[in-house]
This record gives sequence, structure tokens and C-alpha cells, in this order.
Amino acid sequence: MYISQVLKNSLRYRNSSVAAEKGSILGKCWRRSYYVLAIESSCDDACVAVLEQQGTNEVPHVVDESKETLKSASRGGIVPTDAHEFHQEVLGKLVKKVCERTGISASSPPELVCCTRGPGLVGSLSAGLQLSKGLSIAWNVPLIGVHHMLGHILAATMSQAEMPRYPYLSFLCSGGHTMLVKLSSIADHEVVANTQDIAVGDCIDKCAREIGIKGDMIGKELESYVNTIPLSLKKEFYSIDTRTPKNKFNFALKLPLKRPKHDRIPSQVEFAFSSFLSSIRGYKDKYYKNSFFEEYTKQFMACKLQETVFDHLIDRLNILFLKHGSNSKLYGDCDSDFEGIQDFILSGGVASNKRLREKLSNELKTEALYLDGQEKVLRFHFPDISACTDNAVMIGLAGIRIFEDLKRVSDLGILPIRKWPMNELLTVTGWHRL
Ligand code: AMP
Ligand code: ZN
Repeated sequence: MYISQVLKNSLRYRNSSVAAEKGSILGKCWRRSYYVLAIESSCDDACVAVLEQQGTNEVPHVVDESKETLKSASRGGIVPTDAHEFHQEVLGKLVKKVCERTGISASSPPELVCCTRGPGLVGSLSAGLQLSKGLSIAWNVPLIGVHHMLGHILAATMSQAEMPRYPYLSFLCSGGHTMLVKLSSIADHEVVANTQDIAVGDCIDKCAREIGIKGDMIGKELESYVNTIPLSLKKEFYSIDTRTPKNKFNFALKLPLKRPKHDRIPSQVEFAFSSFLSSIRGYKDKYYKNSFFEEYTKQFMACKLQETVFDHLIDRLNILFLKHGSNSKLYGDCDSDFEGIQDFILSGGVASNKRLREKLSNELKTEALYLDGQEKVLRFHFPDISACTDNAVMIGLAGIRIFEDLKRVSDLGILPIRKWPMNELLTVTGWHRL
């Protein structure tokens, strides 16, 4: 029903300041293309972007984007009702600004409206969803309710010289998720491992706040703080064993979950982060109940926290590589589920951490994936830093793939989905086939 509308509009004339800057030299041209307006509002970031899609399989061009983040440091974290109000206050203005800058109006609308449908905070999601429904009705263009995590995965592929090839692994490390996903196609996602409690970003935020790191994007602040510690001191900290409190700080920070013996890998391998928070809170209660850490201890805690959380990620991934790899010399019971995997994508806000990238590249035992003696190298894809945290470009990218490859659009009656497993992308209600 909508495709004719899209095709009718696809050969169109656009003249906008941003298109002139980023598009053709003349700033005015006739091209076979269509515009997509995308909105992301799953948590505390209000984001709007306009993308231009030229040709079915081209990587879209970002015409413009804008983002505002709820200030939540003084509230000790994100309060869902604050986030709901924030989106209602901010999103409309952002859409207006981006539309003015890109030449979008009632007489020159985009051809597609995409917004995040879930997972996320229901209040935040509904603000973006309601606005998108209104725009879709007013402009008489299709609406696509996008899975937020599909957006994160595709954002990581956007600036890559070489695109990952299916099947590939995507490791999502964000404020709300920690999961390893195997993608066999755009709609075929198998969640291989998930967290059994909180997400890695949430853990970093809560622990770093306890240590005394301040700011709205705590993980980034923690990384910057650790980067100010001289290398020689960092090396000293790394060498201190915190598996028990028998060290000069009397501090224990262990890798969560028991390391299985090679012949007894459990059927479900998971991540777990809440013990990090209990360790740090317990230590503060015992030794610093009414005082702050002195600088030396704060440096140690920050350094050890970042390192041990990342060690846990690597530890679990290595177990998963053994279990699902093809190298039976390393683990006799491997099931070869990762056969054919040659690409590994890191995504989500925590993916911007350089230390994590370095550790993944150096410490993952990729030889477990391949038959003994087989010459294969796992290619790592790390997104641009700006594409790691929530943004609307990724929602537009995912919406375009759903539209082009899966030929689906959303019903105007769709509701936000607070928890939306990735393997249920197309099985939820509200999709229409084109
Ligand atoms: P997202 O949920 O994908 O928007 O990502 C937000 C999460 O990423 C928050 O928990 C941040 O603290 C975390 N984060 C952002 N930048 C970094 C960084 N450089 N290092 C570690 N965590 C980060
Ligand atoms: Zn996110």
C-alpha cells in the first residue's frame, strides 16, 4: 500500500542548507533517493536524524542529526518519570529543528518515519512513538517501529571499510544490555548469552558513582579518569591480586561466576555484574562509611573496577568460544555452532571504551573457533565512538533495512515494548507486509 507512495516520491528535488553542505556540489540535484526521518527515545537520549537512502543496498547518507541528553547526575541515575517528561518537552523541538535544516516540511515530507519501539522505558518510548505516529499520519508516509538493539548492531557496520558477512557475532554492551548475539540474517538473531542480573553499563555507572566518579556519562568519565593514572602506577594496580582481600588495600573484587572446568561447561553461559557492586559497597561500608576514598585508593578502585569488569566479559566470551567453536583439540565437546563466523561486532555505549577494544583484540582466544590448524582470523569491527551511544541514525539504518530487505512497515496501533527479545523481531504484533 505504501510502496507506491515511496516510489512516487523517490525521484525528487530537494534544496536544503544541510543537503547543500553534505550533498552535491551544487546543493541542488535530481536524484533517485528517499529521505528517512528517525527518532530514538528509549531511555535518556532524545535523538532525531534525517538519512538519505540512495539505491537499495547503499549505505545511507546522514543528512542531519541532533541529540539532547537528560541531565540525571544530581538524581543519582535515570528516573523514568523524569525521562518521560524530558522527551515530551524536547523531542518536538528537535524534530522541528532538524526538519527546518533539511528542508523537510508538509509539502516536502520524508518518505519514511522510523522510531524506536523497544526495548526501553515505556514512558520514553511512547513519547517518540506517539510523535512518530502523528508525523506518519500528517505526512501520509509509512511508520517503522524499530528494535533498539538492531539499531546498535547496524550502527557498528556503518563506517566499516569491509562489511561483516553473515553469520557474524555481535556483542552488545550498553546501559541496558549485555548480550552476545549470532546474526544469520537481518531478521535471524540467536541470543547466545545474556546477563543474569544488571547490564555491564549499569554496573559500571553504579560502581563508578560509589567510587566517587561524577558526570552524566559515567563510563566515559571513568575511562578518562583511569587514563590520567600514570602507566607505571596502573601496572602496579593490575598486578595486585584482588581474588581475596589479602592485599595492601584489603579489597576483594573477584570475577563473578565460577570458571567451569573445560570438560564441564554449563549448558547456559551467562554474564553477571551485581557482585561488583556488592563488593564495592561492602568495602565502603567497612572502611569508608563516613569518608571519601583518598586519591590513591580511588585510583586503585577505578582502575581495578574497569579492568575486572572487562576481564569478566573476556572470560565469558572465551568460554563461549570454546563451547560453540570447532576446535575439538581445545574442547572435546564443542558444538561448532559458531562455524562460519569470521566477523565480530562490538556495539552499545560501553563499546566506546578503548581499553575494552584493546582487550578484546588481544585476549580473545579466537583459535577456539576454528578447526585445529585452520588458518582463520576473526575480524573485529568497532563502531565510530559517536555511533556507540544511543542515536537516531542507527534507528534510521535499521528502519531502512526492515523496509528494503524485510519489506515490512508498522501498524499505527503499535505499542512500546519494554522487553523485546531480539529473536522476536518479526513475531511481535503490528507488522504489515508491503
Ligand atoms: P547506551 O545504553 O548504549 O546508550 O550506552 C550508555 C552506557 O554506556 C552507560 O552505561 C555509559 O556509562 C556507558 N559508556 C559510555 N561511554 C563509555 C566508555 N567510554 N567506557 C565505558 N562505558 C561507557
Ligand atoms: Zn542503547
